[in-house]
Order: sequence, then structure tokens, then C-alpha cells
Amino acid sequence: DQGLQKSSENIFSKLSKAVVGKSKVDEEVLDELEEILITSDVGVDTTIKVINRIEERVARDKYVNTEELDKILKEEISGLLEENNTQDLLDFDIPEGKKPYVIMVVGVNGVGKTTTIGKLANLFKSAGKNVILGAADTFRAAAVDQLILWGDRVGVPVISHGMNTDPASVAFDAVKQGVDTQADVVIIDTAGRLHTKVNLMNELGKIKRVMQKFIPDAPHEILLVLDGSTGQNAFIQAKEFTKVTEITSLAITKLDGTAKGGVVIGISDQFKIPVKYIGVGEKMTDLQLFNRKEFVDSLFS
Ligand code: GDP
Repeated sequence: DQGLQKSSENIFSKLSKAVVGKSKVDEEVLDELEEILITSDVGVDTTIKVINRIEERVARDKYVNTEELDKILKEEISGLLEENNTQDLLDFDIPEGKKPYVIMVVGVNGVGKTTTIGKLANLFKSAGKNVILGAADTFRAAAVDQLILWGDRVGVPVISHGMNTDPASVAFDAVKQGVDTQADVVIIDTAGRLHTKVNLMNELGKIKRVMQKFIPDAPHEILLVLDGSTGQNAFIQAKEFTKVTEITSLAITKLDGTAKGGVVIGISDQFKIPVKYIGVGEKMTDLQLFNRKEFVDSLFS
């Protein structure tokens, strides 16, 4: 399964409690469901959407058995999640003409950005790919050091110029080395200072421009890392980052310690960006490819 904590407090178990002794889905059950979805971090907009749809079905079919509610809810939630087109990273073929495949990783500090890059590097390396990391989060010494540590641990080179150096110059060198050595994948870490939005926008823009000197359509992927345990903060960050840069995929971390997988549903629905990876722990191997069906099943088990 998707590694989410089996919990007596997930959407399914809360719903089971809410419908005890009731045979019919009525106003009261829908109110309970609304509260369950909101407290599971699905987000207000997405919750209202789900409740409205179920209300329509209840109105149309006149009588909906509470036993059917799980199935209906599961269908509605599946419909809101973007499918992940990458099904198996170990079989991941670098798309034609996209070698090295360049991934630019964005996200605020503390969400698990460096860890996710280390885990990704490990996955690609396990799949026999040559990986290069670029330490372009030069604002924090700890970020650079940690990426180097991950590089050592996984056994992949890290391009770094140290702290307070020009991030674009790091990206330039990392992509250049990627091209020169015919690497398969280059992953660039970036600073996540959302409070200086204009600076961040300029910085990311400059990083993209220098990559494009070598590879016109780089970065091929712009991955936003969000901490799934922070609920509404993750929504706010997704909103702010999508204003600053295009985002092509999401990694949602720290889903191991929480039963609140609901954040994945709301973010996927509201931003229409596929969740590609989920982080389920601190270890190198605690990264999974997001699978819609498995994820929904895990919410209901
Ligand atoms: P960054 O500042 O965004 O680069 O964050 P780090 O990668 O340094 O991670 C911050 C903390 O979160 C570290 O203690 C990580 O071990 C931890 N962390 C990262 N991903 C996960 C995850 O999926 N699950 C758990 N439980 N912890 C994680």
C-alpha cells in the first residue's frame, strides 16, 4: 500500500462511526462527512465540491444506503486525484532527446526537500542511472552540507560552490557536467525563500535560463515538495509557488506520521498538478511513486 499509517482516525473509520445505526444518507450524515473531510485536511473548497456531488446523487437516487457511501466517496475522491503517469521509476526511460533529464526541485525549508532529492537520487541510481546533484540552495550552509552528505550516502556526485555563491552558477556547472559526462539525470536543489517572492522568481528564472544554454527545454520537471503533515500550510505553499514558477509535479512528504492523507486529495484537486512521489519516512528508501488506486484504498482501510 502507500505506506500511510493505518489508523482508527482515517476518513473511512471516522465515517463508519458516523453512520452507525443509520441506514439512509441524510442531511445529518452529509454534515458529518463534511466535518470528517475538513478535519482530514481535504480543504474547504474540495470538501464542498465532494459534498455537493454526493448531495446530487442522493437527490437523484432518492435513497442512498449508508453502506454505499464508502463506495461513492471512494469514486468521488478518485475522480479528483490526478493520475500519475510514471508508474515505475525503476523502469523509467529517459524520454527521447531528454538526456540528461533535468529536475529542478523547489519548496520551503524543512518540508523534506533535501531528503526527497537524496531518496530520488537513490531510486534513479538503483535503476542504473547516472545522477548528478546540484546544490543551488546556497542560502543556507546546512542545505549545501546536507546535500553533500546525501550525495556521499547514495554515491552520486554533488556540484557545489559552497554557501552564498550564485545558485545559477551551480546549476550551470551541474547541467554542464551532466551533458559532458552524459549523465542520465541532473537534480537541482533550490532555495525556498517564499517571503522574498520577487527574488525567488528572479533566482529560479535565472537558474532556468542558464540550463537552457545547454538544454533548450530544461528543466524537464519542476518538482514542488510539500510537507503533508502541515495541512493548510501545504495548500498555502502550493498557491504561492505556483505564482512564482510553473510546477509540473508534486512530492508530498511525511505522510507516514499522519492519518491526514486528505491533504493529497485537496492539493491534487485544486492545483491540477499530479502528485508524483510520496515520502513515508526518513530513510533513503522511504519514497514511493504515488499510485492513485493504492492511495485511495489506503484511506479506506
Ligand atoms: P529541507 O529543509 O526541506 O531540505 O528538509 P530536510 O530534507 O532537511 O528534512 C527536514 C526533516 O524532515 C528531516 O528531519 C527529515 O529527516 C524529515 N523528513 C523528510 N522527509 C520525511 C518523510 O517523508 N517522513 C518523515 N517522517 N520525515 C521526513
